[in-house]
Amino acid sequence: MLTKTPKQSWEEFVDCIQDFCSATEFHNWIAPITVSPESTESLILEVPNIFVQEYLLSNYDKQLRNFLPIDAKGKLLVEFRLVKGEKSTPKVKAPPQKTAPHLFLNPQYTFDSFIEGPANQFVKSAALGVAARPGRSYNPLFIHGGVGLGKTHLLHAIAHHISRHNKRLKIQCITTEGFINDLVDHLRSKSVDKMKRFYRTLDVLLVDDIQFLQSRLNFEEEFCNTFEALINQNKQIIIASDKPPGQLKLSERMVARMEWGLVANVGVPDLETRVAILQHKAEQRGFSLSSQLAFFIAERIFNNVRQLEGALNRLAAYTGMMGIDLNEEIIEHTLGELFQTITHGRISVDNILKSVGAIYDVRVSDLKGSSRIKGIAFARQVAMYLAKELINESLIKLAAAFGGKTHSTLLHAWKKISQQVASDERLQRQIQIAKRNLESI
Ligand code: ADP
Ligand code: MG
Repeated sequence: MLTKTPKQSWEEFVDCIQDFCSATEFHNWIAPITVSPESTESLILEVPNIFVQEYLLSNYDKQLRNFLPIDAKGKLLVEFRLVKGEKSTPKVKAPPQKTAPHLFLNPQYTFDSFIEGPANQFVKSAALGVAARPGRSYNPLFIHGGVGLGKTHLLHAIAHHISRHNKRLKIQCITTEGFINDLVDHLRSKSVDKMKRFYRTLDVLLVDDIQFLQSRLNFEEEFCNTFEALINQNKQIIIASDKPPGQLKLSERMVARMEWGLVANVGVPDLETRVAILQHKAEQRGFSLSSQLAFFIAERIFNNVRQLEGALNRLAAYTGMMGIDLNEEIIEHTLGELFQTITHGRISVDNILKSVGAIYDVRVSDLKGSSRIKGIAFARQVAMYLAKELINESLIKLAAAFGGKTHSTLLHAWKKISQQVASDERLQRQIQIAKRNLESI
């Protein structure tokens, strides 16, 4: 006789387990699981992330078998669905660790190899400050910026520096995924206290990609506790993120903690910096790139440094294989598609003026005019900055399109905004919006 629906079986299991585990454990691991309305004959459970699923299966296997249907081979008849699209969740997990992981640093990511320019000077000097006086300058240091702009590089550079100059300090450099995996492993082996002890005796904690803590409530709470324990003892914390704290979907408590110290942005490097990076990286790979060719590439790839590296790798492979010298034609041929996706845009000064005008509520004619009213002059400078950043044209021509300004006016505006954008989050957001509008034209 068929008795219960899968949903009823699950509810019975939950009732039973509630008496079995602590309130916190229940709240963190069992309560977030719901029965999918699509469950008919077999049970479909919806979980907010893969850790909840794994926790359930590895800790309550026996109880689950008592309540839920199993097939002839003894396999539980239950399916899991991730809700809320947790794409970043790793499919393969690291093997359980007995003690916390060691310091894995990329040997290339040092301060020496980090080329600086107006868009990253501020954050680099903050990073150097923290590396020189851990726990005694800015705490925490929060580094944010788009992909491939050097956040991980800076994090490792700080860790290298400290481990070289302050050998006695205990450092942990970990990705947010690493932290979560560590916590899950310790939960499973019932050794969370050991992990807590380890983290709370650190002198320096560096955490990469904190955006992956978003919508992982249980882990966020544990992270926040660790964070507070360290900060209260003046231990240095450095965090990297793809967004500023205020834009992360984290609890107010967590956001407030991250804003306690210094928030610094890594911006997109300007043309000269991109050229210097290209030449530096080429040299590291053992081939030389003339500045003419470096400019040729850097003018056409301006989104992020990782793309520049990708371009160099392609060139190195191509010329290495063919045994030929580089010239613009060969570069165009080898990197053409990389260039196209980036430069074929229809971005023009007129589009920029419209977009910036809309954001700052200023008329295009005023942007092109010569009014020195603060709001108008500032919006004009932002537009000039964007024009130089986004359009591959001589400064003279760009400046002319602003109602006949001179190239030195444009350069001055660009410098001013480049510097301001490094530390002004509001401006960063406005510029991001303008860029997004322009991309969607
Ligand atoms: P993010 O963590 O911000 O996504 P990474 O730190 O991984 O970016 O940087 C991507 C690549 O670009 C790395 O190989 C890094 O060494 C390089 N890179 C980024 N910025 C710079 C810079 N200013 N100077 C030299 N290399 C850089
Ligand atoms: Mg990174």
